[in-house]
Amino acid sequence: MSSIQKKTDVILIGAGVMSATLGSLLKELAPEWEIKVFEKLANAGEESSNEWNNAGTGHAALCELNYTSEKPDGSIDISKAVNVNEQFQLSRQFWSFLVTSNLIRNPQDFIRPIPHMSLVIGEKDVSFLKKRFKALSKVPLFQGMEFSDDLEKLKEWIPLIMEGRTSNEPMAATKVDSGTDVNFGALTRMLFEHLQSKDVEIKYKHNIKDIKRMSDGSWEVKVHNLENGKIEYHTTKFVFIGGGGGSLPLLQKTGIPESKHIGGFPVSGLFMVCNNPKVVTQHHAKVYGKAKLGAPPMSVPHLDTRYIGNEKALLFGPFAGFSPKFLKTGSNFDLVCSVKPNNLLTMLAAGAKEMALTKYLIEQVMLSNEKRLEELREFIPNAQIEDWGIVVAGQRVQVIKDTASGRGTLQFGTEVVSAADGSVAALLGASPGASTAVNVMLEVLERCFPQHMKDWEPKLKEMIPSYGVALAENPELFQKIHASTTQTLGLGEKELLHR
Ligand SMILES: Cc1cc2nc3c(=O)[nH]c(=O)nc-3n(C[C@H](O)[C@H](O)[C@H](O)COP(=O)(O)OP(=O)(O)OC[C@H]3O[C@@H](n4cnc5c(N)ncnc54)[C@H](O)[C@@H]3O)c2cc1C
Repeated sequence: MSSIQKKTDVILIGAGVMSATLGSLLKELAPEWEIKVFEKLANAGEESSNEWNNAGTGHAALCELNYTSEKPDGSIDISKAVNVNEQFQLSRQFWSFLVTSNLIRNPQDFIRPIPHMSLVIGEKDVSFLKKRFKALSKVPLFQGMEFSDDLEKLKEWIPLIMEGRTSNEPMAATKVDSGTDVNFGALTRMLFEHLQSKDVEIKYKHNIKDIKRMSDGSWEVKVHNLENGKIEYHTTKFVFIGGGGGSLPLLQKTGIPESKHIGGFPVSGLFMVCNNPKVVTQHHAKVYGKAKLGAPPMSVPHLDTRYIGNEKALLFGPFAGFSPKFLKTGSNFDLVCSVKPNNLLTMLAAGAKEMALTKYLIEQVMLSNEKRLEELREFIPNAQIEDWGIVVAGQRVQVIKDTASGRGTLQFGTEVVSAADGSVAALLGASPGASTAVNVMLEVLERCFPQHMKDWEPKLKEMIPSYGVALAENPELFQKIHASTTQTLGLGEKELLHR
């Protein structure tokens, strides 16, 4: 049995942080628009956005060394770091707007302050970190960053990591106290509760099977209602494909020219987790190291203090791996089924080019618990296996496309793919990820609703005061915004005392 439903203005596919963010922006900008959300699982934020499926780092390039590279002349390129930080400032502002407008409450349930640190060992890396620190310190966005290569200072900052170290190799770290731990699962659930209170229809256990263009330019979405087994058809003027790893197959179903010659490469992840209070209380930071040779940028090892459900835990990883699934709850046929005549050559070219990466990922999958412990001990020399369990993280589907640097190039960032008429957009890729959801969804708005952007600008500036302005070049505005978002989101020392 099937049914045709009435036309809506917007359909959001997937109840992850991206659809939640786009829905929340649209509800403020065009409150009269009718929005429907379809999610195949039973709840919001159950895939990559779930708190156990990602590292919960508010990525602002305060600690991630892969956002700053050393140029051939030895100087440090900080442009990517500045860009990522600017994007995180947009998220902070939008979340603050939602809190001050009482649209969401209790920011401490999704964001907490936690020092962000970079840690390196060995003369070469210490020299790199020092240069990186000097370059970033000149930019107001990185204010408060401290550097130390003094072992006594490091013992004060990271006692758990320093205890039991016997090597004489030089070590150094940077620390920024204004870093954050973000529970993206909690945030996603809060945003969907808010949307539901604004009459957005959210249909869980509804799996999107097909997306077809109608003769009038609108879209018909074929939905399998998993509760009653029926097929439903819904039509809409605009579809956002926010299916996380599941976005690529859905984008391919639209048949838009922009969906061609794109492939996906799934990378899975594991974290080691420690809940032993004796160990957990000895560490209070997110500490990022350097990626191992041949490792993809998203598998930079880090030891993180996490706040999940009011409990403090330590997470170490991620250990990358290979799985043919595009979602954690996906199918082993996802990768094979995503190969189409139009992307076959792109995929084959990537396969030939990325042999080293595939080998690395397969080796990672084969790691024994003892091998993982060895890697953990590079961070915590005295780590004991009985204190650490394993959690399986979310899947990241990296985009493969033909670029100026050649056919079948693996991309590590996020990509918005949209139709020329702006009636459909999909988000592919997963890095820097949820932290930059607001920036990415603003890009969706700019691409898909250019005719409305002028009218929407005053509201956008009310929600995101720095909209359209580079904060790195406006130190006074940055100070003002940083102080107010710190206060609203409860991220300062004063705010913490009042909790
Ligand atoms: C190991 C790991 C660590 C990470 N660490 C960080 C971090 O520290 N900081 C950070 O900012 N980001 C991080 N990320 C990235 C971040 O988690 C993602 O960018 C973000 O959660 C993606 O959100 P999303 O809404 O696009 O996808 P998801 O949260 O995956 O949501 C997509 C939803 O769509 C649904 N769906 C898919 N297909 C269909 C269909 N056909 N019909 C109906 N529903 C469908 C899925 O069930 C799912 O609920 C990490 C990711 C991973 C995997």
